[in-house]
Amino acid sequence: MNKSQQRIYEQMGISPQVYAFCENIWDSLKDRWQEIDALSEYNQLKVIGAMQKNRVSEACLLGTTGYGYNDLGRESLERVYADVFHTQDALVRPQITCGTHALALALMSNLRPGDELLSPVGKPYDTLEEVIGIRPSRGSLAEYGITYRQVDLLPDGSFDYENIRKAVTEKTRLVTIQRSRGYQTRPTLSVNRLEELIAFVKGIKPDVICMVDNCYGEFTETLEPSDVGADLVVGSLIKNPGGGLAPIGGYLAGKRECIENAACRLTSPGLGREVGASLNALGAFYQGLFLAPSVTANALRSAIFAANIYERLGFSVTPGSEESRHDIIQAVTFGTPQGVIAFCEGIQQAAPVDGYVTPEPWDMPGYDSPVIMAAGAFVSGSSIELSADGPIREPYAVYFQGGLTWQHGKFGIMKTVQKLVEKGVILKDFGKQNL
Ligand SMILES: *Cc1c(COP(=O)(O)O)cnc(C)c1O
Repeated sequence: MNKSQQRIYEQMGISPQVYAFCENIWDSLKDRWQEIDALSEYNQLKVIGAMQKNRVSEACLLGTTGYGYNDLGRESLERVYADVFHTQDALVRPQITCGTHALALALMSNLRPGDELLSPVGKPYDTLEEVIGIRPSRGSLAEYGITYRQVDLLPDGSFDYENIRKAVTEKTRLVTIQRSRGYQTRPTLSVNRLEELIAFVKGIKPDVICMVDNCYGEFTETLEPSDVGADLVVGSLIKNPGGGLAPIGGYLAGKRECIENAACRLTSPGLGREVGASLNALGAFYQGLFLAPSVTANALRSAIFAANIYERLGFSVTPGSEESRHDIIQAVTFGTPQGVIAFCEGIQQAAPVDGYVTPEPWDMPGYDSPVIMAAGAFVSGSSIELSADGPIREPYAVYFQGGLTWQHGKFGIMKTVQKLVEKGVILKDFGKQNL
């Protein structure tokens, strides 16, 4: 064990015992780190290749103002995204305010009154309930006469093919598939499983639009959903593809027709993609995308480390310590509010920004129980940065994600263990018991 390393951790509030316990586990994960290095290496070249192919130049990093006609950097960035995702086209804009907006834009622009939307993988992400109108809401798809159907996954997590077949009708225009588990108990869908599902749906109705909510999934595999038949992939730039640098934004990549529809909804019919000044965002969009494969890899390392630490400490973790990864989310179930709170305090205390504050559970709008959130982010609300949150209700699970550097992720997890020891949630002699 490296003494000076241990000393700096001690200065940062990590006891020798916690350090030794965590360091041992970190060292045992060498094979996983190799796998992740290979993944980020592949994706790094994919991104550089797309930038070179599109002749990204210094001039592309400068933005426009006003209407934003002839925005060279914006147009080339959209071609770069299209090449990274191997799609005909892409829309990548600072005017897309967040992931929910990007998804709402994709749905509202590609569905027309009388059409039906189908989710064959159960309930979509919370914020989409109001977009669709599952919970009545001003401006929802339901208000425009667009109906919604849902087929849940089977109890073992597999697709309910029989009921999906019945749910695809002559009205079905778009099928929305969420890749990440989000904050649910269902498993995250691998690109392989997405391929299977999309092929099945297309087998029933070839002209249906298959859209994938790609949030948290970008660069966690060498293939993206658009490589295996998705017509449209959608995500947020303050998650994986923004690489931690994008200060705002969302993207859609897919079939030209779908992207043109979205552009006309985002700006205006007739104007479409020709307007939309990029202001000063482009440098961060390009550099963020360049960093995204390695930043995503760092978040994956942090998640795998957390899974291994907490599994060893006897808590239930999803995904499991040895499972393959298809997004950057890690859930740990503590079974007590104290566990969730101590974990979030640890993450907060490891933050470079707002590291001195203590997070507390609060009644957030839209949630039925208090929620505690830890985030010390350079970009407000960014969840590619090290962050954690958990609702204070059964089963008292915390959801953890991000980490721009693995060093920060590793330190953050060590801090959570330290907090849990200090608060008596795990026993003082945990190391002896569990090693
Ligand atoms: C984060 C997320 C969204 C919504 O994105 P916001 O930027 O929070 O609006 C939608 N779907 C999934 C799966 C997500 O993880």
